[in-house]
Amino acid sequence: MSKQVSNVFDTILVLDFGSQYSHLITRRLREFNIYAEMLPCTQKISELGWKPKGVILSGGPYSVYAEDAPHVDHDIFKLNVPILGICYGMQELAWINGKQVHRGEKREYGPATLHVEDKENDLFKGIDNSTVWMSHGDKLNGLPTGFKIIATSDNSPYCGIKHETEQIYGIQFHPEVTHSTMGKQLLRNFAIDICQAETNWTMENFIETEVQRIRDLVGPTAEVIGAVSGGVDSTVASKLMTEAIGDRFHAILVDNGVLRQDEAANAKKALVDGLGINLSVIDASDEFLDNLKGVTDPEKKRKIIGHTFIHVFEREAEKIKPKDGSKIEFLLQGTLYPDVIESISFKGPSQTIKTHHNVGGLLDDMKLKLIEPLRELFKDEVRHLGELLGINHDLVWRHPFPGPGIAIRVLGEVTREQVAIARKADFIYIEEIRKAGLYNQISQAFACLLPVKSVGVMGDQRTYEQVIALRAIETTDFMTADWFPFEHSFLKKVASRIVNEVDGVARVTYDITSKPPATVEWE
Ligand code: GLN
Repeated sequence: MSKQVSNVFDTILVLDFGSQYSHLITRRLREFNIYAEMLPCTQKISELGWKPKGVILSGGPYSVYAEDAPHVDHDIFKLNVPILGICYGMQELAWINGKQVHRGEKREYGPATLHVEDKENDLFKGIDNSTVWMSHGDKLNGLPTGFKIIATSDNSPYCGIKHETEQIYGIQFHPEVTHSTMGKQLLRNFAIDICQAETNWTMENFIETEVQRIRDLVGPTAEVIGAVSGGVDSTVASKLMTEAIGDRFHAILVDNGVLRQDEAANAKKALVDGLGINLSVIDASDEFLDNLKGVTDPEKKRKIIGHTFIHVFEREAEKIKPKDGSKIEFLLQGTLYPDVIESISFKGPSQTIKTHHNVGGLLDDMKLKLIEPLRELFKDEVRHLGELLGINHDLVWRHPFPGPGIAIRVLGEVTREQVAIARKADFIYIEEIRKAGLYNQISQAFACLLPVKSVGVMGDQRTYEQVIALRAIETTDFMTADWFPFEHSFLKKVASRIVNEVDGVARVTYDITSKPPATVEWE
């Protein structure tokens, strides 16, 4: 039986009550090189399979006194490890110990000043009166049985509490958000000093345990296939597989005809020559472009590309015959932790929790077992891992690229000619961004080809050609985004190069819409 990451590394368990900040708690702890794992608040402790070094109860939108409020499994107290309740989490601790929680007269949202009352307390070591971030409507109206006050704020007399004898803490504010200026210190105090978790969560250590885990899981003879895209996640996952089982891992890159310029050739060079990955490149561009003929609806385009991909991938996978005469047993998936969080985060008593299905049909038909080496990692951890695995810097820091590729950047019908125009314009644009040293300041940039014609004049001749729209955004999470404020001279240069070098384009515009109301991609 291969060991779970949480069995190998000291782990802080974060029980999620549905706060929009829950994943940030996990994030912060990982930044201190402490492994933390988030699970829904309904997790049964007896079914955990590993013992946490400490437990954090997150905030949440519910009221502990409401009939359908979520409650934690009381077995957390039998673990005999430190517990920290944050906001709803603290109210839950109070509810369990005397039920003194009620609706406050006014909601408290935003900054407040923390007054540390018990300066000897480990939780507040190195923390003095500082700004903390509040977001609550309920409050404690008495001390829970067996607890004492360790911090106050003007509006919250029970801003910080601790059990008299046990290492059980509650705080009303959110230490995980950056507005709580000493929040990181507090989480660090809890995890390192109070829980005594070892700070050994590093990507160096991860490689070692993960390679071993993959070997144990796959066994001495079984073989694995996986799709690669040329992006960072699938490249890192493939390199890890190759480290673990060598050529028994087969990577497949499907050229769908809507990849970026020279993408298939570049990926082949980077993965095969650079990283020794056993890769086959399949040129299926005709098949994709044929299926896309006459289709203009963005959703239909996405669906066609998705279905064609599964079809091509399955067909190619069938051709791969393992050396021992058996069948391929595993499918590699580059699932990251945010996808996992999305599927496990607590959505409330009335809603079923969404299951994660990246490849749906693929698995059902092929009867393959999933292998997901990155499922514990955040994106920046994947990038760090990529650098350690020797993947080149530009690939590791590449902007995200959508699965349907240029098909959703050619608005309207996707033809070979239209893809060629969009691809060339995009190449020039990205080249100029790199030359200007802006690539890493921008979260995502690309060119779109619009299905409209516009009048122009070139060499005294009237032209009547299409329009390229440039997009560049800055964002931390892709949920909201702002457009990037290029210098005018930069835009001028790119526009002039595109009109001069790309046949079929007479005009260039720059998209100055944020998300929301617009999305990052045009389709
Ligand atoms: N719903 C609870 C309240 O309003 C908890 C809020 C929270 O955890 N952020 O007080």
